[in-house]
Amino acid sequence: MTAEVLVLPGEGIGPEVIAEAVKVLEWFTTYRDLELSIRSEPYGVEAYKRYGTLIRDEVFADLLQADAVLFGATGGPEFDALPREAKISGNLLAIRKHMAVYANLRPVMAYDELSDVTSLKSSAVQNVDLVVVRELNGGIYFGEPRGRELIGDGIERGINTLIYTTPEIERIARVAFELAHTRRGHIHSVDKSNVLETYKLWRDVVDHIGADEFPDVPLSHIIVDNCAMQMIRDPKQFDVILADNMVGDILSDLAGAITGSLGMLPSASLSDYDGNGRRRALYEPVHGSAPDIAGQGIANPLGAILCVGLVLEHSFDLPGEARLLKQAVRKVLAVGIRTPDIQTGNSRAVSTKDMGDEVVRALTRLSNG
Ligand code: NAD
Repeated sequence: MTAEVLVLPGEGIGPEVIAEAVKVLEWFTTYRDLELSIRSEPYGVEAYKRYGTLIRDEVFADLLQADAVLFGATGGPEFDALPREAKISGNLLAIRKHMAVYANLRPVMAYDELSDVTSLKSSAVQNVDLVVVRELNGGIYFGEPRGRELIGDGIERGINTLIYTTPEIERIARVAFELAHTRRGHIHSVDKSNVLETYKLWRDVVDHIGADEFPDVPLSHIIVDNCAMQMIRDPKQFDVILADNMVGDILSDLAGAITGSLGMLPSASLSDYDGNGRRRALYEPVHGSAPDIAGQGIANPLGAILCVGLVLEHSFDLPGEARLLKQAVRKVLAVGIRTPDIQTGNSRAVSTKDMGDEVVRALTRLSNG
C-alpha cells in the first residue's frame, strides 16, 4: 500500500508555510526513492466555514491511519471569533491526544550562516545542536479540574491542574534517554521540584528510569528558571532537554532566539509503536499562526520545510534524505537568501514562496552532484 501523508494547513501563516513544505515533499516523491500520496484537508477556520466544524469526523478518524500528518498552524482572530463550543472538538490539543503522540521532539540547530541574526553573541550560539523532548499528552494543558467560576461578591477564580502519573513520566523519560543514546548523550531534565509536588514526582521517576534502565547516560536535573537563563547564557551545554508539556512549550519558543527566528524550528510528535511496528506521527512547525504577518507572503517556511526532514527520518526511515534536506537549507542560507525575519545587511529578502523554490533548487543541485 502506498504510504499517505495527510496535510492540515490550518490558518494564519499555516497554509503559506505548508505549501512550501509540500513542494519540498513532492520533490522527494518525484526525484527520489519515495512513493507516497499527499492529501490535503481543510482544518480550523476554513473547515468551520465549509462544514461547521474544525475537522470533519472522517478526517479526524483518518489521523490514526495516516503514516504522517503534517500540520500548519491554528489560532488567531478569526479562530478566536468562532463559537466557544466549535473550538473544543478537534482542536489541536484534541488532535494530539487523539493520536496519542505524547513525545514531542523539537530539534534546535543554530546555523552558522545565521549567527549574525540572533540577538545572542555568535560565539555563544555557534554549533548549538540540542533537542527539547516535550511531554505532549498530559500536564497542566489537560489536567482536571479546570475552568473559571464565580465564588461570590463578584470574585472569579481560575483553576488548572498540573497532574502527571508515574507511567506518563516513565514513557517520556525513556524517549529522552533513548534519544540521548543516539546523540552526545546527556540529559537535562527540567522541573520546578523546589516548589511543586508534581515536579518532585517527575524528578524521582526520571531518576529511577535513568538509574535502572540507562545507567550509562549522564543525567542532570535543572530548575526551569535556571534552565531558561542557561539556555540564553550558554546553550551549547545542552544536548537533550526533557520537559513537561508547558515547560517544554515555553523553552522551545525560547530556543527560537538561539536559531534567530521562531520560523526556523520544526517538531515531530510521536506515539508508541503498535503491534504492527507502526506509530502515529504529527509534524508541525513550532511557531503559531502569526496573525501579524499572515497573508503577506513573508513568513519563514523553513520550520515547516524542516518538518519534512523529520517526516523522512521518523516516518520513512530515510535519515540520509533528511540530511540532504538540511544541507539544502544550509546552502540557501549560505548565499544570503532570507525571509525578512532572518534578514541582515547583505542578504537578499525573498518571499515565503521564493524560499521554498530556492530550497527545491538547492536539492536539485545537490542531488545532481
Ligand atoms: P506565533 O508563533 O504565531 O508568533 C510569534 C511571533 O513570531 C510573531 O511576531 C510572528 O510574526 C513571528 N513568527 C512566527 N512564525 C514565524 C515565521 N514562520 N516566520 C516569521 N515570523 C514568524 O505566536 P503568537 O503570536 O503568540 O500566537 C498567534 C496565534 O497562534 C495564537 O492564536 C496562538 O494561540 C496560536 N499558536 C498556535 C500554535 C500552533 O498552531 N501549534 C503554536 C503557538 C501559538
